[in-house]
Formats: sequence, C-alpha cells, structure tokens
Amino acid sequence: MNDDPRSHGLWESSAPAAPATRELEGDLQADVVILGAGFTGCSAALHLAQRGVRAIVLEKNDIGFGGSGRNVGLVNAGMWVMPDELPRVLGAEYGERLLTQLGEAPSVVFDLIERFAIDCEVTRTGTLHCAVGRRGLEEIKERARQWQARGADVVLLVGKEVERLVGTQRYEGALLDRRAGTIQPLAYVRGLAKAAIELGASVFIRSAALRREDVSGRWKISTARGSVTAGCVLLATDVYSTDIGAAIKNEQVRLPYFQLATAPLSERVRQSILPERQGAWDTKQILSSFRLDRSGRLIFGSVGALRGGGAQIHRDWSRRELIRLFPQLGDVAIDHEWFGMIGMTADALPRLHIHDRQVFSISGYNGRGIGPGTVMGRNLARLALGDVSIHDLPLPVTDVSPASLRTVKEAFYEVGAQLAHFTGARI
Ligand SMILES: Cc1cc2nc3c(=O)[nH]c(=O)nc-3n(C[C@H](O)[C@H](O)[C@H](O)COP(=O)(O)OP(=O)(O)OC[C@H]3O[C@@H](n4cnc5c(N)ncnc54)[C@H](O)[C@@H]3O)c2cc1C
Repeated sequence: MNDDPRSHGLWESSAPAAPATRELEGDLQADVVILGAGFTGCSAALHLAQRGVRAIVLEKNDIGFGGSGRNVGLVNAGMWVMPDELPRVLGAEYGERLLTQLGEAPSVVFDLIERFAIDCEVTRTGTLHCAVGRRGLEEIKERARQWQARGADVVLLVGKEVERLVGTQRYEGALLDRRAGTIQPLAYVRGLAKAAIELGASVFIRSAALRREDVSGRWKISTARGSVTAGCVLLATDVYSTDIGAAIKNEQVRLPYFQLATAPLSERVRQSILPERQGAWDTKQILSSFRLDRSGRLIFGSVGALRGGGAQIHRDWSRRELIRLFPQLGDVAIDHEWFGMIGMTADALPRLHIHDRQVFSISGYNGRGIGPGTVMGRNLARLALGDVSIHDLPLPVTDVSPASLRTVKEAFYEVGAQLAHFTGARI
C-alpha cells in the first residue's frame, strides 16, 4: 500500500484483493457518513447496510491502511486492563457492559467471517498469553482467576503442556483463552468492506474528510473533489486520524510495533511451533508476539519502529530472540517486515465522544482493535439507527482531551525499545 513494503508487509502480499472502489467525485447524500475504513468503520457500515440504511465510508488512503491492515491478527476477548479493574475504573454499569461485549467480541468476529464467507485465514483454537519468569506467572494466574470467576473459557497451563503447545521451554506458564483466535487482519477488513458494499454501502478511497459544515441541520463532509451530506457522522479514524479527526489522534500516544515474517517453514519445523496454531504473546513490558500464517510462516513482532537506526537493532534482536525461543528455526530467511502505530490512552481504555449533534466516535483500543473495533463499529451503527441511546453503550461519554507529554512519551517508547533490543537476548 502506498508503494511502501514496510507498511503492510506480509498481509498485503497474502490478502485477497480489496473490493473495487474509487475516489469520491461530486456531491452525494447519505443517511450516515463514516470516516475511516478500518475494523470500526467497516463494521459500522456493514451493520448499517444490513438494516437498509444508506451508509457511505470515506477513507483517506486504502481500506485497512491504518492499524487494521498492519496488526498481529490476535482476536482477543479483553483489554490489557485486568477484568476486575474495568468496573473499578468505569463504574459497575459501564464496566460490566464492556466486559460482556469484550468477552463476546471474538464470536462476533467469527460469526461475521462465517456469515459473509470472509477468506481471512481464521483459526479458532485460542490465544496463549505466555508467562516470562515468576512475575509473569503471577500475572497470568490472576488473569485466569478473574476470568474464570466470570465463567470465561480460559485455562492456566504450566509445565509440559506449555512446552507442547508453544514449542519452547522458555515460559513458566501460559493462559489459554479458548474464546480467542487469529485472522489475517487485512483480509478481514477487506472482507468486511466487501460485505458492506454488497449490501448497499459505498466506500470511497483516497478521499480524506477535510471539513464538516452544518447545512440546514445536516452535516456536509467535504473531500478534495466531492462531498457527502448526511444526518449522522461516525468518526472511525482512530490513531491514524488526520484533518477533521486530528483531535482523536492527539489523545493517544503512539506505540510503534513491528513484525517480521519468515519464509514458509518446513513441515517438521512448523509442527514443532504452536502446533495447534494459537496466536501467542508474552508478559514482558516490551512484549513479543508470535503466530503462524496459513502458509506456515512464523510471524514475530515486538515494540519498535523499522526506521532509521532502530531498524537494524530490531532486526538483529529479533533474530537472536527467535533462535533463543525456537532453535529449530536455524538460519531461516526473513521474507517480510513491516510496522505500525498502536494508539494508547492514559488508562488503556477506549474513548466514546460526542463531537457535535449526531457526530460520534469510538477509538483508542490500545492494541486490542479486532474484536473491540468490530463490536464498537456495531455499537456506532446501533446509535446512528436510534436502536440504542448513547447511555446504553459500554463506555461513558468523555471530552476529547489531548494526551499529556505525548511527543515525549512517543520518543521514550521508540528509544526505549531500541535500548531494550540492543541489549536484549545477547546472553
Ligand atoms: C502493529 C499493530 C499490531 C496490532 N495487533 C493487534 C492484534 O493482534 N489484535 C488486535 O485486536 N488489535 C491489534 N492492533 C490494534 C488494532 O489494529 C487497532 O486497534 C484497530 O485497527 C483500530 O481500528 P480502527 O478501524 O478504529 O482504525 P484504523 O484501522 O486505524 O482505521 C482508521 C482509518 O481512518 C483513515 N483516516 C484517517 N483520517 C482520515 C480522514 N480525515 N478521512 C478519511 N479517512 C481517514 C485511515 O487512513 C485509516 O485507514 C494492532 C495495531 C498495530 C498498529
């Protein structure tokens, strides 16, 4: 995308083609105009189109250009925040609603994939949160306890079972979340967009929303060569926001995250790593993630941006770390590399905003956007349809407030990851 092999990497080369779309030209009318064609915007469009509502999506770049086309593909059932913490932070009513929706989010994703026959390499064998050291083990034990108390299908694994499922002895334990799974994220978001279009929605790419004006009680959203006028505006531009969505971007701190994909592994080696094909990540503060794709490539990721001097540091560290975890990889070739920005909010929870009359946004998934983005897109659609009131949603309405010390924190993340990876896995 954008002729940059480091933006969407493997996903760009293995995803089915995007549905045919073009730039907006001329002036159109709609019931709802949606800005941003990621999981949130495409899910909103699909849920609106299913109800026969005329929805138009304006996307600045291409479908899946933002986090949705770059991510690891872990379809999780929660946030980073511990389950019991949500009601404490959001209050019992919103916290419990959010936990319920997050818990159901993977099955919402899997149901959409099935119903609309989205070809996106879906696996439904769960995810593994792998414990590094005693502290990591304590963390996943507590997570397991809190989820199990809520009746969630999660299991704490230790000893030989961890070694068998992950393929390494490096972890003290693992939390297997059977609600979760993996997808090819760009293929999924393209599939959502295709399904929405087939049901009557329109998606315009290369059509940045530049201005919003009130025209006789409706909102006119202007792009460089056209406009859409609608009764309701849904902003789904998240941390990749520009122009009229910029305020949403500024309330998040961008955490860079890169991924490398090996050449397809031999049958013998691929059976020795994640043989049941769970997606995995670890409990380290500068965490690593790993999973296989349909063609048997190992995809390994961690915090950092593949640019400037950092790129080689992250590549060298990844190779050392991969061999430490899975010596059987030997001198495997790395075929793809890419990175993107994860938007982090101050309390690691998403934000619901009312920007104006009938102008709403939900953003800030803190690296958990597949399930949450899909269900929040559905929530935005229900709100636009008038099926629910804003107070029925699982998040309280807050004011948009810029993140404090954003640029300092972003520099800290980038340099911190370089330092950690420069010294890491040398011994
Ligand atoms: C490297 C990485 C790894 C991740 N891994 C995971 C994971 O494994 N599991 C998980 O659940 N989540 C993961 N995430 C998080 C997840 O990808 C995001 O939370 C999610 O993609 C957000 O979806 P969205 O639709 O809200 O926004 P995006 O997907 O970012 O879409 C926003 C879109 O808005 C467009 N846009 C911006 N401004 C305008 C404008 N003015 N007009 C029109 N369009 C505009 C952008 O071009 C973009 O396409 C990861 C994120 C990254 C970056």
